[in-house]
Amino acid sequence: MSSHIQSTLDSLEQQHLLRTLNETTPLSPPYISQNNQKILSFASNDYLGLSQHPTIKQAAIQATETYGTGAGGSRYTTGNHPLYTQLETKLAALKHTDKAIIFGSGYLTHIGLIPSLVGRNDLVIADKLIHASIIDGIKLSGAKLMRFHHNDANHCKTLLKTHRDKHPQCLIITEHIFSMDGDKAPTSELYKLANQHNALLLTDDAHGFGVLPNWSAHDSHIIMGTLSKAIGAYGGYVCTNEPLASYIQQKARSLIYTTALPPATLASALAALELLEQQPEHIKTPLAHATYFTQQMNLPKAESAIVPYIIGAEQNTLALANQLLKENILVSAIRPPTVPTNTARLRITFSACHTQEHVDMLKHALT
Ligand SMILES: *Cc1c(COP(=O)(O)O)cnc(C)c1O
Repeated sequence: MSSHIQSTLDSLEQQHLLRTLNETTPLSPPYISQNNQKILSFASNDYLGLSQHPTIKQAAIQATETYGTGAGGSRYTTGNHPLYTQLETKLAALKHTDKAIIFGSGYLTHIGLIPSLVGRNDLVIADKLIHASIIDGIKLSGAKLMRFHHNDANHCKTLLKTHRDKHPQCLIITEHIFSMDGDKAPTSELYKLANQHNALLLTDDAHGFGVLPNWSAHDSHIIMGTLSKAIGAYGGYVCTNEPLASYIQQKARSLIYTTALPPATLASALAALELLEQQPEHIKTPLAHATYFTQQMNLPKAESAIVPYIIGAEQNTLALANQLLKENILVSAIRPPTVPTNTARLRITFSACHTQEHVDMLKHALT
């Protein structure tokens, strides 16, 4: 076995696919520090810089002072802090659904939610480019997975027509904004198809929430998302209607068999949502920067805070990211299997903390 392990590591390195953990210290956003260098970051999902917001930090400190650092139990034993109720009530109101359910993270949400909805004889029809956490949830469920071409509702319709009737339950899954491409799914078409074919539509809103204008549940039966990106905290959530929400609360194992979130995390997410309610204008800046950047660079117009700069080969992508890093600019080099073969890319994310000068610096570094 040890020779298999070493040869696998060697082969990953040869293919420029080895992943590295780089020590990174957050500075005032959009700056970070690596190897004692102050670096301008276009690599964070903290789209609004809320992880560093003074009011939100204060809420986390206050919660820790009052309630301590850890929850000490599952939500179903002693971990269900009153802050959960406040946070779930606020989220459900924002998304216009009956109920919101907070999970430990977005990843934990998918691996509990999907197996609670579908099982061995059921069918999942999902976009080709869905996130790894969705794939893992589907694998755990044991349901049959069929994929439609990226953002192709017609292909989804064909799969439904041919295969839907062979399975008791059917779940369609997409992302509102795709995590590595930044483009938007045809959610209203998919929602219509789901209704026509007695299926449920699950939409992953990890990269839409807090970046695009108030996106509520009218285009999906179930919305999931994360509190760890634009909300700047940690945790995952599901928003849906009754009785589905109560059903998920009974079934989702990753909700039941894990410790509840620390009070500070709940308090900071709650404070972030309150801030977004009071100052909704914050939300517009990341998309405005992304749009300006794509116009300047002659790229397809940005639809979100995420802009893919596709290079193709892994080695060239890494080389470009390293060249930018020498100029103290950080962007993520994304390689297979995270993205399809021959589409290695720089994944550029814009934040409300960037100024137009920052965006121009990136443009000059790339041209
Ligand atoms: C980040 C992400 C998740 C996972 O959320 P975490 O809270 O980080 O576990 C799920 N889906 C998509 C599309 C994501 O980008």
